[in-house]
Amino acid sequence: MPRSNRPRQQRRAETEPLDLSRVMGGLRRTESKRDGEWNVQPQSAGAAVKVYTCPGCGGEIAEGIAHVVAWRADGIMGEADDLAARRHWHSRCWRMRA
Ligand SMILES: [Zn+2]
Repeated sequence: MPRSNRPRQQRRAETEPLDLSRVMGGLRRTESKRDGEWNVQPQSAGAAVKVYTCPGCGGEIAEGIAHVVAWRADGIMGEADDLAARRHWHSRCWRMRA
C-alpha cells in the first residue's frame, strides 16, 4: 500500500528514504507519552530540506530548521507501517506534547 495517509498539501514530492539514520542527525531515542511509547529521531538543520506541517501547532516547519520526527514504538501495525506514518514536529511542540 502506498504511503498516502498524510492528506496534507505537499510542496515537494515526498521521496524520503527509509534509511533515516543516514540522512538525519542525532540518535534515535524512545519517549513515553500519555498514549504510549514513541520513537523520536532528531533531524538536524542540514537534513531538513523540506517543509513539513507540525501536528502540534499546525504550523510549518521550514527548511533548515532542526526538528524531530516521531513514530509509534508500540504500534500494532509493525515498525514499517509506524515508520511510514511518522510525523515531523517542532522540537518545542513535541516537548510540550503530553
Ligand atoms: Zn509546531
